Amino acid sequence: MSETTPTPPPALRPVALGLHHVAIAVPSIEAARGVYEKALGMTASAGVEHVADQRVEVLVLMAGTQRIELVEPASEDSPISKFLERAGGRAGLHHLAWEVADVAEAIALVRAAGATMIDEAPRPGSHGTSIAFVHPKSTGGVLMELVEDPHSARAEAAGH
Ligand code: ZN
Repeated sequence: MSETTPTPPPALRPVALGLHHVAIAVPSIEAARGVYEKALGMTASAGVEHVADQRVEVLVLMAGTQRIELVEPASEDSPISKFLERAGGRAGLHHLAWEVADVAEAIALVRAAGATMIDEAPRPGSHGTSIAFVHPKSTGGVLMELVEDPHSARAEAAGH
C-alpha cells in the first residue's frame, strides 16, 4: 500500500449488520425511476418523500429485500446539488448505507476507533430512520452512512 493511500480504521466492521441501501444521486427522480421500475422490475415502497433535514427528495425502490434509494436535491444548497454539480449534472453512486442496531452507539464506536464522522449526532433520515454519515477519508474514499431502521426486516425479526 502506498503512503498516499490512507488505511481506513477498522471501525465499521463491529457495528455494520449488513448493507441497508445503495443511494443514487439523480437530477430528477421522475426521469430516473423508469430504469429501476421498468428495466429492473423494482417496486417503489412508497411515494417520493421529502427529507427536510437533508434537503432532498427520496424514492425507495425494492427488489426483494434489496433496497436502492434515488435521491434528488430539494434545494440548491442540498449536498446532492453539490454532488451533481461536481459530476457534471449526471446521476451517480452517492453512498452505501450500513444498518446498525443503534446509530448513537455506532457513532461512538466508530469515533473511538479513530474514524472521522461527518455527523457526530444522529439525524433524521427517510422513512423513520436515524442516520449519520462517516467521512469518506475514513472509508477508502466512498461516502458511507450508518442507518438505524426500526422497520427493517432485520429489526422486525429481532422483535423491535
Ligand atoms: Zn442513505
